[in-house]
Amino acid sequence: MKITVVGTGYVGLVTGTCFAETGNFVTCVDIDEQKVCKMKEGIVPIYEPGLDIMFERNINEGRLTFTTKLEDAIEGAEVIFLALPTPPGADGAADLSFILKVAEQLGSLIKDYVVVIDKSTVPVGTAKKVRQKIAMNCNCEFDVVSNPEFLREGVAIEDFMKPDRVVIGTSSERAKKLMEKLYAPFVMQGNPIHIMDEESAELTKYAANAFLAMKISFMNEIANLCEKVGANVDMVRMGIGTDKRIGNRFLFAGVGYGGSCFPKDVKALVKTAKDNNYDFKILNAVEDINEIQKTIMIPKIKNFFKGNLMGKRIAIWGLAFKPNTDDIREAPALYIINSLLAEGTEIVAFDPEAMDNVKKIMGDRITFVDNQYDALLKADALVIVTEWPAFRTPDFPKMIQRMNAKVIFDGRNVFKTEQMKELGFHYESIGREKVT
Ligand code: NAD
Repeated sequence: MKITVVGTGYVGLVTGTCFAETGNFVTCVDIDEQKVCKMKEGIVPIYEPGLDIMFERNINEGRLTFTTKLEDAIEGAEVIFLALPTPPGADGAADLSFILKVAEQLGSLIKDYVVVIDKSTVPVGTAKKVRQKIAMNCNCEFDVVSNPEFLREGVAIEDFMKPDRVVIGTSSERAKKLMEKLYAPFVMQGNPIHIMDEESAELTKYAANAFLAMKISFMNEIANLCEKVGANVDMVRMGIGTDKRIGNRFLFAGVGYGGSCFPKDVKALVKTAKDNNYDFKILNAVEDINEIQKTIMIPKIKNFFKGNLMGKRIAIWGLAFKPNTDDIREAPALYIINSLLAEGTEIVAFDPEAMDNVKKIMGDRITFVDNQYDALLKADALVIVTEWPAFRTPDFPKMIQRMNAKVIFDGRNVFKTEQMKELGFHYESIGREKVT
């Protein structure tokens, strides 16, 4: 099949590459000329494990090409994926301007029947709006389908190639057949394709993300209570996670969720509810809890330094919003760093992949170093914000040698408290006893 993917971000590039991998001919189009130039040179513009090998293979096989011109990209395409940004607007609603602008352009460009697919996370009613925009300038037949994406950054290739499920929202029999054909190679193991109306498909994506965000905020509240009553959140997590009705995933307490999806999707769902005269109480609480949780470490750090952080040298391990990505959108690290800078601290940070992206927004307000141990030189404390695997079993003697004092604030519960006691660290984490 000849496929066009509009937008080559975390979703679009993975979508395009994975469809090329299953034998389709994919043209990816993006307005970012620098990005397209890089991709034409065979450079993957984002960090996503496993993407580079597949990317290179499909370029070499002639199945994956790039352009900045929408009219060239859609030439002969049977399906057009829209993998465009839907950032939160000032009122929390998803900003649909990227999607609707491209839909309007498509109206005057498409010449034969084509299926236009909303891959972006979009509020209920967007497929209708996209259809109207295209129809304004279009005389030929077309269908608009909602096909939300559930991939996780960091394991996006695996998620896309072997999805738990594929959700397709359409009432068109023709579009349904095409979509089933397209996804057939990805559901060989019997994972289902759920065909539904487009409104339900659109809402499914928000419901999934909001539910996962709710699990995280719930566990963070349990963790905060654990600290007050002397319980250990890791024990509670294991105690409830082995109950099949609850499941053991997404139960880790920490410094809150970030990323380009959960924060904006929770906000957008609250707004959809509000627009429909429904007060989605639980989601308001999910958001409020996360706001507090992002900087929950700050009072602990301040307390340790007796209220005065001026001139303290703080090492930060981890900037990305989660491990195995370079994505820093809404990353808790940014909130923590800004709060610490406001207190007059000096920040030295290390992240295996996300430093270039943070440099773009923080410039020289903080110092970046090339490895995790250099961040610790003369540090008065270490703050762990992202649970990269390399942080889990570090060389402790090397750490102790470099640090000014043996002080760790662990926002992701990376270390065991027993181990910290043995090593003589002052160690504070989330929902567990303080080691002094
Ligand atoms: P992104 O910001 O990484 O990528 C969007 C791309 O679209 C950028 O490269 C941008 O240059 C390009 N673009 C903007 N306007 C364009 C235009 N007119 N023509 C062509 N290209 C244009 O975004 P993303 O993280 O890939 O997310 C895309 C959508 O998918 C969002 O709605 C998001 O909520 C959803 N989603 C994201 C994830 C994720 O993990 N990132 C997972 C599931 C769903």
